[in-house]
Amino acid sequence: QTGISNLPNEIVEKVKNHPCYSEEAHHHYARMHVAVAPACNIQCNYCNRKYDCANESRPGIVSEKLTPEQAAKKVLAVASAIPQMSVVGVAGPGDPLANPDKTFKTFELVNKLAPGIKLCLSTNGLALADHVDTIARLKIDHVTITINMIDPEIGAKIYPWIFYRHKRYTGVEAASILSNRQLQGVEMLTARGILCKVNSVMIPGINDQHLVAVNMAVKSRGAFLHNVMPLISSPEHGTVFGLRGQRGPTAQEVTALQDSCESKMNMMRHCRQCRADAVGLLGEDRGSEFTMEKIMAMD
Ligand code: SF4
Ligand code: SF4
Repeated sequence: QTGISNLPNEIVEKVKNHPCYSEEAHHHYARMHVAVAPACNIQCNYCNRKYDCANESRPGIVSEKLTPEQAAKKVLAVASAIPQMSVVGVAGPGDPLANPDKTFKTFELVNKLAPGIKLCLSTNGLALADHVDTIARLKIDHVTITINMIDPEIGAKIYPWIFYRHKRYTGVEAASILSNRQLQGVEMLTARGILCKVNSVMIPGINDQHLVAVNMAVKSRGAFLHNVMPLISSPEHGTVFGLRGQRGPTAQEVTALQDSCESKMNMMRHCRQCRADAVGLLGEDRGSEFTMEKIMAMD
């Protein structure tokens, strides 16, 4: 069974009110995502750029994009309407760290205007190592990195290109840079005491067998939770960019993989792949009650 009860006490203290990390808390505490980050610095084959980033969110959804100022206004409106709101995250619709000015400005404003709220962000990890100091300064204590491989040969099937230090890389070279940066990011975060969760998108026939190795690699670098997410592949999400005809895993396949990783690390089993502008308890999405149009009308 997933849970936080077998984690060290200092981690339990940090995550007990966090709906995403604590299975107990997800019934009582709410979270919201603010979609302030449109750009991305890599291409995942399962991504459809018209929609939200699949790092954390359900692809195939178009979220309402906000400026940092609008996002802060929305946080205040939601916090007064939903008192259990304990966490604000930036999870897209692109990569938060490919939009560092917008992402960090949002967190600065939330810190100033709603100081008790916990902050989190999710990223593909490529730019993470450059921003660990800022993440620590802004007291962002939860970071999610999507790591789908540690073997660049497998990575080349998932990522056609990355854009890194003003240059585009492709193939095995791109996957190798990405993997090194992701693992370096996990190490740097955990060295600073920032909680690090790893998401992996399970893609049958491509990385499904390999994710046990990913699990061991991230555990040994200090990630505290691993969340295996099924590739969502269905007609209403559009054909994913480079994986035409690719099926998603069955529920049994996901559970079998989670079981084979369970003895090695805490696995998260209740992630809902929320949209990049989700609002509310994990099982619900009250985002449509808090569009900018409605928030402006509350003034
Ligand atoms: Fe899409 Fe991947 Fe970028 Fe997320 S990280 S926006 S899934 S390309
Ligand atoms: Fe939590 Fe998963 Fe939703 Fe993120 S996508 S807010 S980790 S349940």
